[in-house]
Amino acid sequence: MRVIVLGAGIVGTASAWFLQKAGHDVTVIDRQPGAAQETSFANGCQISVSHAEPWANPSAPLKLLKWLGREDAPLLFRLRPEWLQWRWGMAFLRECTPARTAHNIRQIIAIAEYSRQTLQAVRAETGIAYDCETRGILHFYTDEAEFQQSLPAAQLMRELGCPRETITPDEVIRIEPALAGIRHKIAGGDFTATDESGDIYQFTTGLAARCEQAGVQFRFNTTITRLLSEGSGAAARISGVEVIDEHGHHQRLHADSYVLALGSFSQPLAKAVGIDLLVYPGKGYSATYTVTDPQRAPRVSLTDDGHKLVISRLGNRLRVAGTAELNGYTRELNPVRCEAITQRTRELFPDACDYDHPQYWTGLRPLTPSNVPYIGRTPLGNLFLNTGHGTLGWTMGCGSGKAIADIVSGRRPDVDFAFTGMTRERDEPRMVSLPAKG
Ligand SMILES: Cc1cc2nc3c(=O)[nH]c(=O)nc-3n(C[C@H](O)[C@H](O)[C@H](O)COP(=O)(O)OP(=O)(O)OC[C@H]3O[C@@H](n4cnc5c(N)ncnc54)[C@H](O)[C@@H]3O)c2cc1C
Repeated sequence: MRVIVLGAGIVGTASAWFLQKAGHDVTVIDRQPGAAQETSFANGCQISVSHAEPWANPSAPLKLLKWLGREDAPLLFRLRPEWLQWRWGMAFLRECTPARTAHNIRQIIAIAEYSRQTLQAVRAETGIAYDCETRGILHFYTDEAEFQQSLPAAQLMRELGCPRETITPDEVIRIEPALAGIRHKIAGGDFTATDESGDIYQFTTGLAARCEQAGVQFRFNTTITRLLSEGSGAAARISGVEVIDEHGHHQRLHADSYVLALGSFSQPLAKAVGIDLLVYPGKGYSATYTVTDPQRAPRVSLTDDGHKLVISRLGNRLRVAGTAELNGYTRELNPVRCEAITQRTRELFPDACDYDHPQYWTGLRPLTPSNVPYIGRTPLGNLFLNTGHGTLGWTMGCGSGKAIADIVSGRRPDVDFAFTGMTRERDEPRMVSLPAKG
């Protein structure tokens, strides 16, 4: 079968890898000159099953109100006259009940755990080098109340099979001695030994190269302008995709099936063929520093709860990422936010890095209100979804790629997850609607 994958981020590239392994003739289209140039470029680099708790949880509504309009807020809603943002916001509030939060954590753990195992298998098979560290993820808290509030979530994760162990401040320092300078500020922590970190860009570009060797065709510098549909009701399907190619020419490309993996940009293209996805961009920042003293820089991947930052060692670099702003599709760098990241990193690890020459970056997380991605079928028979991976696209990417390849090939994936448009042994399926054409 001929399959076109739309998007060459981690999700599209992993989909292409598993689709070609399943025997399909695969083409990947992306507007950038190479793979992983947008959100999969310079993120926090954590493979963190232990971060399965979504932003939408019972404590979120009050926190969001408190943060509204505060420039330094970890999660900032900038209200805009934009229907999608308001609909997304209302849906986010509906996901904050204890029951929805518990349901969403279950889904995220299932696909994230499956994905980590899938990533490990791909690593072993391909030998891709991506500054991978398998020393676990250490989450530390500098606020006693926040630490206490985190305990039920850690307990739930343990019950669901994620070994997120609650630990004392002394154990925090034993696991990562580079934090010794702030020992007196640490209220507690948790540690998930099975979690990992590694450079998403190196991995994704390495996998794209292996895909090409295996026969996948990549069409870079090619912008998708429209999905074309035909038929109605049960016979509705995608007939092609309209693009502007690398020479500026309009073209129509055709395949038997199409996988939509355009991250934050999936929503408008899907909407034009009647698929209503709640995916909204959540802008985040990262800073990358050159390590100047390897003994003083952390090796274990960290989460600084008080500042909502994640920190990953990538060989001789330190990547620090965080903050979230829901404010449309802008990727503009706000110098105040950039400086706040450097100030905090310098405070944690003085003398460990060259803080005078940081590399700042922003990316748009493709957020669903629940942080559960859309993976599966649509009412258009040959259009499949693999999008909306939000805060955890690196963690869930490989498993999502393997699962969608199974679904496109007519097989049930071997992970128990609420796939879009499919019935499931437990829980309800998630449907996307195809509104009547007016
Ligand atoms: C600051 C920050 C920190 C993060 N930290 C982590 C972390 O530590 N761990 C983790 O698991 N996740 C993390 N994430 C989330 C993760 O990076 C994303 O979920 C993931 O990269 C999304 O991958 P994707 O393939 O869906 O999207 P993308 O990587 O954005 O890929 C989509 C592709 O579609 C292409 N495209 C879009 N529109 C068009 C068009 N019209 N025509 C042609 N091509 C198009 C783009 O060029 C792009 O290559 C972080 C995100 C941010 C912003």
